[in-house]
Amino acid sequence: MEPIYLDHNSTSPPFPETVAALETAYREPLGNPASQHRAGRRARQALEGARELIARFLGGKTATIHRDTLILTSGATEANNLVLFGLAGEAPGRVILSAVEHPSVREPALALGRRGWKVVVLGVDSAGRVDPTELETRLAEGPADWVSVMFGNHETGVVQPLGPLSQVAARYGVPMHCDATQAAGKVAVSRWRLGIAAMTISAHKFQGPVGVGGLLLAEGVVPRPRTFGGFQQGGVRPGTEAVPPVLGMLAALRKWDAERDVLAAELAAKRDRFEARLRESIPGVLVNGLDGPDGTSLGPIERLPQTSNLSFPRVDRQAFLMALDLAGIACSTGSACASGSPEPSPVLTAMGLPLERVRGALRFSFGPQTSPAEVDDAVERIVRVHRSLARP
Ligand code: PMP
Repeated sequence: MEPIYLDHNSTSPPFPETVAALETAYREPLGNPASQHRAGRRARQALEGARELIARFLGGKTATIHRDTLILTSGATEANNLVLFGLAGEAPGRVILSAVEHPSVREPALALGRRGWKVVVLGVDSAGRVDPTELETRLAEGPADWVSVMFGNHETGVVQPLGPLSQVAARYGVPMHCDATQAAGKVAVSRWRLGIAAMTISAHKFQGPVGVGGLLLAEGVVPRPRTFGGFQQGGVRPGTEAVPPVLGMLAALRKWDAERDVLAAELAAKRDRFEARLRESIPGVLVNGLDGPDGTSLGPIERLPQTSNLSFPRVDRQAFLMALDLAGIACSTGSACASGSPEPSPVLTAMGLPLERVRGALRFSFGPQTSPAEVDDAVERIVRVHRSLARP
């Protein structure tokens, strides 16, 4: 039985183009980009060229004197921690985030809360979206160090109304951060068009190498450093930049930029086929983000193309996940950073879904490498495993 990998939101295999870029970079005698000799200068040139192009692919301003800064990090967790601690003032203030953020945003906010900051959590509707008028109300109540609302949710794929939210934040002069980790690549994200101060990405979510990511910052947005000991990246994130992985990240973004329309449409087609066939085969399957707490459709909801969060009737997600693993299917109970936790998903809970539905929820996420035949095969295996496991 061939394994079927449907957990691309946890991590996704690199594109062949990514591997080729890594191979070339690792074969070349690239020095440390801080070194003064020729090998170092070549590395610096390659690094800064990649930094500029990556910022451009993410809709940063690169061509004017008012330039964005791309801070390179080890991934999204580090980028989120850097910006959220780094934009919080020296003295305890107030921070605002949505109820459906990834743990790498939620936990820094809670850590600030333990140090005296007031933490304001914005509720979400049944699809998991923040209401810009609630943000307005909360900002009118008092100043804030930052607002953080993600682009598309890691568990459901539901996309936030970022344009209206960032307009509200801008009206109150509060910097807005957006964790675009699950969106970048698959969606044409643009820091500048969205009008946000800071945006997080991570390469292994868009078929780049694992271990590299970044924080795109508007001009003048400078987080205080979290680490010390070097002058690299303006001292904001010191340490030797990982040049080959950055070149791999660039190769993946370049492919998405060139082929996004086709690749994203294929992802959405695989997801839609998967959902439709499971709804047909297992009565009572509900799509979280699309079907409201009472099971009726919420109408058209914008979602990232690669993510499907389904609640299955009469099963427990943990037992179902294990049984699916035995049947060769890799999926997830939610965020990999929280998997294994017996707690019900905070995302689905914040959406007001009944506990029974949260308990039976699994996330399936597709990649460009997933074949349509695998989708059909996965549906058959899921139906079979559900039949053997479901309570009467
Ligand atoms: N934010 C979101 C929305 C994510 O889905 C993830 C990955 N699970 C992260 C942040 C953390 O990413 P990384 O693995 O690069 O630290």
